[in-house]
Amino acid sequence: MAGAASAALLPMVARAQPTNPDVVVIGAGAAGIAAAHRLIAGGKTVVVIEAADRIGGRAYTEADSFGVPFDQGCSWLQGPRSGVPQVGLARELGFTLIDHNGADEVLYVGDRPANSAELSAYHRAYEQIEARVYGIGDVSAASRLPADLPFSAEAQSWIGPMDFGVDFADLSTGDMNSYGSYAYNYLVKEGLGTLVVAHGQGLPIRTGVAATAIDWSGEGVRVDTTDGTISAAVCIVTVSTGVLASGAIKFTPALPVEKAEAIADVPMGLLAKIALKFDGERFGLRENDFLTYAVPNDVPAEACYFLTWPAGIDVAVGFVGGQFGWDLSRADEAEAVDFALGEFANMMGSGARTHFVKGIMTDWAINPLTLGAYAAAKPGHFASRKTLAEPLGDRVFFAGEAVAGRYKALLSGAHLSGDFIAGEVVDVLGGPGLCGSCEARADQRERMLEAQEDE
Ligand SMILES: Cc1cc2nc3c(=O)[nH]c(=O)nc-3n(C[C@H](O)[C@H](O)[C@H](O)COP(=O)(O)OP(=O)(O)OC[C@H]3O[C@@H](n4cnc5c(N)ncnc54)[C@H](O)[C@@H]3O)c2cc1C
Repeated sequence: MAGAASAALLPMVARAQPTNPDVVVIGAGAAGIAAAHRLIAGGKTVVVIEAADRIGGRAYTEADSFGVPFDQGCSWLQGPRSGVPQVGLARELGFTLIDHNGADEVLYVGDRPANSAELSAYHRAYEQIEARVYGIGDVSAASRLPADLPFSAEAQSWIGPMDFGVDFADLSTGDMNSYGSYAYNYLVKEGLGTLVVAHGQGLPIRTGVAATAIDWSGEGVRVDTTDGTISAAVCIVTVSTGVLASGAIKFTPALPVEKAEAIADVPMGLLAKIALKFDGERFGLRENDFLTYAVPNDVPAEACYFLTWPAGIDVAVGFVGGQFGWDLSRADEAEAVDFALGEFANMMGSGARTHFVKGIMTDWAINPLTLGAYAAAKPGHFASRKTLAEPLGDRVFFAGEAVAGRYKALLSGAHLSGDFIAGEVVDVLGGPGLCGSCEARADQRERMLEAQEDE
């Protein structure tokens, strides 16, 4: 393929789709795409069904809003060096990767940049909170907060709602402790969603086809869809825990109690973006910086923090998360945009409004195909992620970001999970999978959940 610009415009070219394949993959996000590649490499026939009319799932770049690529979903390509092809693929296709490790952050107090004492206090708050919440079993992060710490609310907002999609009270220290370190951290100028779509090119994917029921009562599975029934030996379910909890896919027999409980224990958190386009005025803010402000009365989470002019576009991307994000998502989009613009203007001065062109808010909270941004274990329920990952009778397997071990919640984790689970399925179906012997599979899955880390 030529350059990134053409990759963005590539039509979906699907290979032949068997009527009754070895494997049905439900969902064509990063996990489903990775699974399909692994299955095909293992000599299995596969059909991927995707309810939306596009592939990529929560990796979604569009240019309609601002006339330039804008990632509505994931935008940082982060993860371990091994096993994740996206960085190599990006280079091969001529995408522009912007190294965002050690990104700069600007802190405002009211309408002025923080002075050095305030900045030090903010950094101290971050360090002290992290020192107290990491390395502690599986409790609510809020129970570990130091008292009377200046700038605690601001640090909490980034760590809780904006990183994990949940308020500090709902943040499991088990989830926090089990994160892997990133070998890389890039913004992608042409869009991370564009890259994921490029990775899905040529796969046997049926878009606009939703799974409505999975019958696993007999040998193999029968998957009812909005366009007929598909019989297969195995299916791999990659939909979010929000979709699983919604009951949009009916299981026969019903999901075992412990599986249903695990889904409830690892519900969706929310990160939403409120993106503000300006007319080119930069307000003295640099490209690719984070912009944080002191919140009134030290109330965490009711804030919209920004990434300014990512990859050079004239857009300040605001982030809201946790309960406040859910509340704003259920309100009118115009209200949410007005809130974000108000917060921006509080810092930059009311003149900022005269440079404002338009704003949008992402709809992950209410989109029935996601119902949230990414999964977050409830405090005390981190272990439920393992139950979530267990297959049903060697016929129904689960993959995706929620069961992605150390890279849970991330695109790279979704990819690794899809790849790993598909390898397991190849083993089950009798082929050169990943795990060697069937006996070793459960053990391997557990290790995958705990130890996907190479640096
Ligand atoms: C706002 C936001 C910001 C994020 N930022 C980052 C980031 O910067 N870096 C990062 O690494 N990660 C980030 N993430 C997380 C990342 O996008 C996800 O972890 C990853 O894309 C999930 O991939 P997946 O394949 O597990 O699920 P999905 O991408 O959700 O794929 C599942 C697919 O199943 C489809 N589906 C749903 N129901 C049905 C059905 N009944 N039948 C058929 N298909 C169905 C969906 O349409 C979807 O395409 C962000 C997510 C959001 C929402």
